[in-house]
Amino acid sequence: MKIYNEIKEHLTMKRVVQRYGFEPDRSDFILCPFHNEKTASLKIYDKSFYCFGCGAGGDMIKFVSMLFKIGNSQAAVRLNEDFALNLTDRKADRSVYMNYVKQKAKEKTELKAYRKEYLSKCDEAKALRKILPPKRGNNWLMYAGAQARLDYLENYWFVENRWR
Ligand SMILES: [Zn+2]
Repeated sequence: MKIYNEIKEHLTMKRVVQRYGFEPDRSDFILCPFHNEKTASLKIYDKSFYCFGCGAGGDMIKFVSMLFKIGNSQAAVRLNEDFALNLTDRKADRSVYMNYVKQKAKEKTELKAYRKEYLSKCDEAKALRKILPPKRGNNWLMYAGAQARLDYLENYWFVENRWR
């Protein structure tokens, strides 16, 4: 859980409790939000907390997760946002990036196939144009199929499919 460590590197326990409305006294104690008390017995350390009244303790992620009754990962997200840290989970980033690479490779393969088909259609049309239109005296029926194919290529296929 790399992002937890990064959050802890960027923040202090004191900043976290202050952000959520607690003001540590001169000895860095606050009133414990996890049990009822009149004198502050929750001690704020640099990166952690401990309550001498009820025994609650842990790091800043734990504090936020207990305070808002949310899970650790939600607490991390909340700290990330509330302090505008803009930290991202590198592992999540990597999988997003890998998907991007895969998608690009797929598009490249598809484009290659598309171009191959386009070029083969060009060759086909070129070959058809060479024999069309039939010269006088040729048997028109023989060329009917070729003419229909050329019409299809020129008036439909090349109109629908552009060179990419
Ligand atoms: Zn307590």
